[in-house]
Amino acid sequence: RRVLGIEGTAWAASAAVYEVASDEVTIESDPYQPDSGGIHPREAAEHMSEAVPSVVETAIETARERAAAAGEDPNDSPIDAVAFSRGPGLGPCLRIVGTAARAVAQRFDVPLVGVNHMVAHLEIGRHRSGFEAPVCLNASGANAHVLAFRNGRYRVLGETMDTGVGNALDKFTRHVGWSHPGGPKVESHALEGEYVDLPYVVKGMDFSFSGIMSAAKQEYDDGTPVEDVCRGLEETVFAMLTEVSERALSLTGRDELVLGGGVGQNERLQGMLREMCEQRGADLHVPENRFLRDNAGMIAVLGAKMAAAGDTLAVEDSAIDADFRPDEVPVTWRAGEPV
Ligand code: ATP
Repeated sequence: RRVLGIEGTAWAASAAVYEVASDEVTIESDPYQPDSGGIHPREAAEHMSEAVPSVVETAIETARERAAAAGEDPNDSPIDAVAFSRGPGLGPCLRIVGTAARAVAQRFDVPLVGVNHMVAHLEIGRHRSGFEAPVCLNASGANAHVLAFRNGRYRVLGETMDTGVGNALDKFTRHVGWSHPGGPKVESHALEGEYVDLPYVVKGMDFSFSGIMSAAKQEYDDGTPVEDVCRGLEETVFAMLTEVSERALSLTGRDELVLGGGVGQNERLQGMLREMCEQRGADLHVPENRFLRDNAGMIAVLGAKMAAAGDTLAVEDSAIDADFRPDEVPVTWRAGEPV
């Protein structure tokens, strides 16, 4: 009937209720906003420990209301499973989420589901679009990669060789003294800027952001207007991501692309991908912003599919995994589908 999702890999303490029959997702989030600089793992974990219990209680209240409205027995559990983001992410944050999820699963005596956060970014796009076998560009804070389903797993076709794409943009904005998160500020300033040339680094299917970030900081220090550097950054970084996404579509012969991750909220990136897809006759799906940035809705939706496939965890096997890669996940919920 309904699944509770809990997310907390880095900045978003979030809980969601997914109503399977109506496909309705209710998300309750409490973001961590650093006072200065970027995300400090210890401060982020302190935020999680304060915010997770309250977003979870609010979500449980929502589940109770749904159960009452559906005429369910108030003595029955209002949820049928608890799904949590098991990784990748910041270890201290993940441990709090894992502890909360185990406690709630035990309290209601329902199964526990450990969800890979990056696969959840992909699956929410597949779920909302109805696409069968899309390629996925995950453009998030701490990650950047292109995935496609093959032989029972989501394979990483291309990825960053250094930092995640959002973190790279945030490093530049910290350098110019802007508060976190920097991505939306790069987007608004780029609208006023003239393009400047910055290093474009794609090697095969992989890309790198460290050289371009050093060059962008240097341009700014040399007096180039910050709007122009932002424009150059967007054009260069997003062209790299678009090139690799296009090559992935071409290599796999697929004609569906979904976007995932917080940087996916950027309209210039969406525009470049849309143009590329139009030119090659492919379909693009961009999930709503609430499903692009970190959120527990995507954890609950994938958690429901995993639970339905019997892919649940015993509490003693439910340790978090800060380096959990998407290609480590056996895709149990798509068994029998074409590769
Ligand atoms: P991950 O999913 O890898 O754990 P994350 O936890 O950092 O990532 P996300 O919510 O996926 O979180 O992404 C946050 C990032 O998105 C931040 O780096 C932020 O600057 C960036 N971002 C948000 N909005 C925009 C935008 N409009 N343009 C560019 N970047 C953006």
